Amino acid sequence: MNIRLLGTGAADGIPGFFGNDMVSDYARHHGGKDIRGRTAALVDDVLQIDFPPDTLSQLNRFSLDARDWSAVLFTHSDDDHLAVDEIQYALFPFSELEYLPYTIYANPNVCGEIQARYPHWPMDIVVTESFHSFAHGDYQIMPVKATHIEDEDCQNLIIEKDGKRLLYATDTGIWPEQTFEFLKAYRFDLLVIECTDGFVQSTYNGHLNIEGVLQVVTRLRHDGILDTKSRVVTTHHGHHGNARHCDLERVFAEHGIEPGYDGMLIEI
Ligand SMILES: [Zn+2]
Repeated sequence: MNIRLLGTGAADGIPGFFGNDMVSDYARHHGGKDIRGRTAALVDDVLQIDFPPDTLSQLNRFSLDARDWSAVLFTHSDDDHLAVDEIQYALFPFSELEYLPYTIYANPNVCGEIQARYPHWPMDIVVTESFHSFAHGDYQIMPVKATHIEDEDCQNLIIEKDGKRLLYATDTGIWPEQTFEFLKAYRFDLLVIECTDGFVQSTYNGHLNIEGVLQVVTRLRHDGILDTKSRVVTTHHGHHGNARHCDLERVFAEHGIEPGYDGMLIEI
């Protein structure tokens, strides 16, 4: 199994759309791994995770083809993960495909938004719920509860195939105890974890900073959920976190954590 990080930036990307800060300015001048589109990922070229407004440019930038998708999995309904106006381009008259290629799996908020915008949406839409697994082809998928929006079942995703297993954890603060307990039954080859706030301590508890990432990873290693062979990669970086890619590399190196970047391909 492989996962490609299509985008590793938070809500308004890096450089921030109108970002007037050190990280955005550094990214504008230096480019490279500091240019981050909105967070999304693609498993084995077939499972798209989230549909941010940058989806078209991400596919084109990495020579990928949306017709290969068999599913789009949504983590939650925030605008940087659900560009509801963009998904119309799968439909006639934009696409001439008779067979509409992908199934949408999403929580009730996301499904509601899609159904409100497209009352005659022709593809399968499957409502997902934290801690209730489902199968999609050869993949076994288990959503687990994130800490992000009070009145929405925001989900992190366990994806399993051929004995390999990853946990994709974007848009979450420190998980509720229920999630930590639930994860004790698992061991992961890869954890992709968000690091929105970088060096900054935010008053909002729905994201992680560097300290929060270290806290979560330390606990997962202690519980054997991550072992010495498990890779840990970060995503969903915000420019307000005051951390450039080189800063993240420096801080995370001694902890065996790799800062993610747009286009990063991880084989497990
Ligand atoms: Zn987000």
